[in-house]
Amino acid sequence: MHNTRNHVLSIDQGTTSSRAIVFDDQAAEKAVFRKEFHQYYPTPGWVEHDVEEIWRDVVSVCKETIYKAGGVDRIASIGITNQRETIVVWDRITHTTVYNAIVWQDRRTAERCEAMKKEGLEPIVQQKTGLLLDPYFSASKLAWILDNVPNVRERAEKGELAAGTIDCFLLWKLTNGQVHATDITNASRTLLFNIHEEEWDDDLLRLFNIPRAILPKVHPNSHIYGETHPTLFGRSIPIAGMAGDQQSAMIGQTCFKPGMVKSTYGTGCFMLLNTGDEAVNSENRLLTTIAYQINGVRHYALEGSIFVAGAGIKWLRDGLGLITYAAQTHDMATRIPNNGGVYMVPAFVGMGAPYWMPDAKGMICGLTLDSTAAHVARAALESIAYQTYDLENQFKKEAGGNTETVRVDGGAAANEWFCQFLADILDIKVERPVQLETTALGAAFLAGLATEVWPDLAALEKTWKIGSVFEPKMKQPERNQLLAGWKDAVARTLLPHQ
Ligand code: ADP
Repeated sequence: MHNTRNHVLSIDQGTTSSRAIVFDDQAAEKAVFRKEFHQYYPTPGWVEHDVEEIWRDVVSVCKETIYKAGGVDRIASIGITNQRETIVVWDRITHTTVYNAIVWQDRRTAERCEAMKKEGLEPIVQQKTGLLLDPYFSASKLAWILDNVPNVRERAEKGELAAGTIDCFLLWKLTNGQVHATDITNASRTLLFNIHEEEWDDDLLRLFNIPRAILPKVHPNSHIYGETHPTLFGRSIPIAGMAGDQQSAMIGQTCFKPGMVKSTYGTGCFMLLNTGDEAVNSENRLLTTIAYQINGVRHYALEGSIFVAGAGIKWLRDGLGLITYAAQTHDMATRIPNNGGVYMVPAFVGMGAPYWMPDAKGMICGLTLDSTAAHVARAALESIAYQTYDLENQFKKEAGGNTETVRVDGGAAANEWFCQFLADILDIKVERPVQLETTALGAAFLAGLATEVWPDLAALEKTWKIGSVFEPKMKQPERNQLLAGWKDAVARTLLPHQ
């Protein structure tokens, strides 16, 4: 029988926007809607989201997308992918939140993490979770809510409250409070989940003083988590796939074989190397994380996380007023023959891998009277490539062997100048697929695998279509010179400043 329910709705709840995309069984995009939402910066270093606003946006983009793609009867299932680590606590009865979601970029718990590091706790945390003691991850943020919002700890201990990452919150809302669950990739970013034993870890719960009762159940990525409440979209639809955004992009890029690498350029940049069934313990401050668990097969990844990539371009627009739209940076960078010695280190929220300096601040250096807006724009684009180079360098040390190709995606990967510069700096071929919404596609794949839209991973691989290939062209001396300039700029950024 021909399957008429051969579309999948993917909800991609990102850091700056929420979007819904319907894909058909050829992985072609049938409809998409997105909404940007508010960022709250209550005090320097703090970043919050109003998840009630996120929820309203998600429902509205889903409805619009389903309608435009031909109606709810075509939808076999829903996949969810989300900004990772961002954490929220809500009331199980009223479904209202006790505090805004604390976003992954938020540094309010830097001191607490530093104190725990000084107590010598990082090795044990790293061994169990594959992560580091950095405020980036959820645990210290969750502990902050429990410790600082009145009555919350007491209510959590009584079982009145639920906590979770955004996937978990959306699942709760979509099922009208029937299901409190998350997936294994999101769990693996909390600093509370043992990635080898696959369970919430008692020692870690004790370290961060988190009551177990507040945490969700953890399931594999391709799994029927529950069904949407029928009043929401006119019919109950199974929610059959969930994964954190970076893992979802890896799945969307069909990087299923050990050795394959994808790098996503959205707000931040996240580079993941599939290491197969081996959890490679990083000695160079990369993260070890669960890539996915599908049909009983679990793969791990090494991950390099850079906090500011496209966000630096956004800052040129919103902070400096230097550009009116992001794509302008392409022409600006092309207009000048070289970077004129201008470098930007976009440490707006500290520096992530491999430096992990939560207190570092951004800088632009090398300015002369010849420097123009184009130099600053180019420096912002170049910084994304240099940071990727720093990660790739660590990958080489950890996993041995040379990366042959990097598959790129995300908003900034639309920039041709950037992609070519990236290939030049990495000295590696860069491949860009036709479908740049790989994060959303990954979640759709997960849901479609669980609901017979696709039979297996091989069927997914067949849908991946190359859009552009960028071959490295730069000569070694020029590359060396640029990298030396970057290294120097980073060294200045990391100098203690008071
Ligand atoms: P996220 O999912 O993290 O919200 P997206 O994948 O939608 O991010 O990418 C948006 C980011 O990409 C923004 O920070 C924006 O500044 C940047 N961006 C979008 N288009 C371009 C472009 N043509 N050149 C450079 N950066 C871009």
